[in-house]
Amino acid sequence: MDLFEYQARELFEKHGVPVLAAEIATTLDEAEAAAKKIGGKVVVKAQVKVGGRGKAGGVKLAEDAVDAREKASAILGMDIKGHTVRTVMIAAAAPIESEYYLSILLDRSNRNFLVMASVSGGMDIEEVAHTAPEKLVKIPVSAVDGINALKAREIVAAAKFPEDVAEQVAQTLLRLWEVFQSEDATLVEVNPLIKSKEGKIIALDGKITIDDNALFRQPDHSALVDHASTNALEAAAKERDLNYVKLDGQVGIIGNGAGLVMSTLDVVADAGKKYGGVQPANFLDIGGGASAQVMADGLSIILGDSDVKSVFVNVFGGITSCDAVATGIVQALELLGSKATKPIVVRLEGNNVVQGREILAKAAHRLVEQVETMDGAADRAAQLAAK
Ligand code: GDP
Ligand code: MN
Repeated sequence: MDLFEYQARELFEKHGVPVLAAEIATTLDEAEAAAKKIGGKVVVKAQVKVGGRGKAGGVKLAEDAVDAREKASAILGMDIKGHTVRTVMIAAAAPIESEYYLSILLDRSNRNFLVMASVSGGMDIEEVAHTAPEKLVKIPVSAVDGINALKAREIVAAAKFPEDVAEQVAQTLLRLWEVFQSEDATLVEVNPLIKSKEGKIIALDGKITIDDNALFRQPDHSALVDHASTNALEAAAKERDLNYVKLDGQVGIIGNGAGLVMSTLDVVADAGKKYGGVQPANFLDIGGGASAQVMADGLSIILGDSDVKSVFVNVFGGITSCDAVATGIVQALELLGSKATKPIVVRLEGNNVVQGREILAKAAHRLVEQVETMDGAADRAAQLAAK
């Protein structure tokens, strides 16, 4: 889960990373009041989970509270790379002397953590990596040892931070490591980390990605979820612990195993070309040991999607054999009753496939038809969706 900048700022503050006073606002009155409370010059910043807000006009300096109201009116409702701005953060404006870059991330390919640091911050760090790679140092951090004061100083020296701020940057890096570790983050990024005119190091922007797999031991993090922009179907799926992603097409997909579901999406998209560009409507992996209840939950989510015109259930019987899956489908349709309204194409393969097909044939549900091959079933589902 990616956090908004204001949420990242709050976590920074909690762990002692130096930040400036800030308030959030969703209306012009709130924006003006917030600016008045902070006093002096402020920055009005769009709160969207996407980078490059500055370039897009989503970060504006304001002279006073009345000006902040004006700047907020320009930013609220703005669209930045497909994200609508619903909230702005009003922050005390810092006189900037220099802009640096600091991040800690999970480096999956090296099974390690990684710190990236640069004295060329502020701009797009991908651009720095591309045009002046020598200005971006990358230092691996072991998950066992983490970052201590010595390691922090070593990183700061390697990145060639100026003498006068070196110790402050090292201390900030230690605090950022605490954020990373104790909040179960997979990314903590500060761009820009600034040196103010008074020589103080301050985190002016913050980006944090929280590891969703650790949510069970971070009860406070559930408050960080952005319900306003979560898709309703995805939210319902999440409540039922289903791996569901909404897509733009018309064929609802259910499969067991992420790999099988991914290839099902490809096969359906390909088959759909024949029928005027029919596409898969979702990704849904019900996992290896899917019970009738899980099948019913999956089917009800998919049938609740008004874009769905047909459903393709593609199952490879493994740990849960085909007869168990077939029984699950039959029971799921009983559970759903009249809520099941769209044609369902089922392709079963794998353990006990003969018994599985027999169970479905015997049940002879009006909406269900079986096709033995994956390509054939994808074609039929696409054809039904195009009708
Ligand atoms: P991003 O473009 O989404 O990364 O948003 P940032 O928060 O990084 O802001 C973009 C740029 O706006 C920064 O690199 C700064 O140059 C500038 N900026 C942000 N906050 C302030 C501030 O308090 N004072 C001044 N003078 N500039 C700021
Ligand atoms: Mn930034």
